[in-house]
Amino acid sequence: MRSTDTARQRFLRTLAPVFVCLLTASILLALDTPKPPDVEPPAARAEPPAVLVFSRTTGFRHGSIPAGIKSLTELGREHGFRVEATEDPRFFEPTRLGKTDCVVFLNTTGDVLDDEQQRHFENFIRGGGGYVGVHSAADTEYDWPWYGRLVGAWFKTHPAIQPARINVEDRTFPATRMLPATWDRTDEWYVYRKNPRPNVRVLMSLDETSYQGGGMDGDHPISWYHDYDGGRAFYTGGGHTDASYAEPLFREHLAGAIKWAAGMTPHPPRKPAVPTDAVPGDATPDKGATR
Ligand SMILES: [Zn+2]
Repeated sequence: MRSTDTARQRFLRTLAPVFVCLLTASILLALDTPKPPDVEPPAARAEPPAVLVFSRTTGFRHGSIPAGIKSLTELGREHGFRVEATEDPRFFEPTRLGKTDCVVFLNTTGDVLDDEQQRHFENFIRGGGGYVGVHSAADTEYDWPWYGRLVGAWFKTHPAIQPARINVEDRTFPATRMLPATWDRTDEWYVYRKNPRPNVRVLMSLDETSYQGGGMDGDHPISWYHDYDGGRAFYTGGGHTDASYAEPLFREHLAGAIKWAAGMTPHPPRKPAVPTDAVPGDATPDKGATR
């Protein structure tokens, strides 16, 4: 017991919390005054596109998955998209998918999503989301027909890893515009159950005379894209080996695909709102004309 306290000291102690409150309030007011309005303008909220890299496997597991994740993360930093990698299928729910622009199935295999997660992913694509399938993304979800149409073709078999020649059929697309017309590289070249060409836009095909075990009667698409069910879908058959993810051109191929699927690079490029060579009134129906 502090018997030496004077009435004045006791009085000040009683008031101390009040002073603290007043001080705090004035600091908060001072801080509050120059604060921007509660609703930020859209430009201030703009964040880089969000890319989910999903690499869950329930079948064969590729040893190159860590190299793939590392490569895509680095590409995100270089190209301005945010990468989050997960093998947790619970990510496939509306709130998290709602904050995602593109989902990469990186060497997934087998049955990776349950029925409800599949439905959420379908809604994500229908809402304008992007999908990029890499290599064994085509060895995934055989019992989900919607996914089969999204990826474009399912895996059938493959010969040994070997060099092959790729014909780059379309060099205007964001994932192929940096590639040579014929691209020689080594990978594990998948044979697909059906030729996807009738249903997709083929970007690259394998020259089956350039390697052993082609298996698709001479027309062998190996990368393609399409608009699908409201969203965008891209697939590339490369990416089995660790070395793929260190190849500068294969990395740029992946980055271009993700940027297109995430909506960063439209294809075909959007026309300007007003063509620079437009004659004023060009597009206006000439209702008053009497000719
Ligand atoms: Zn493989």
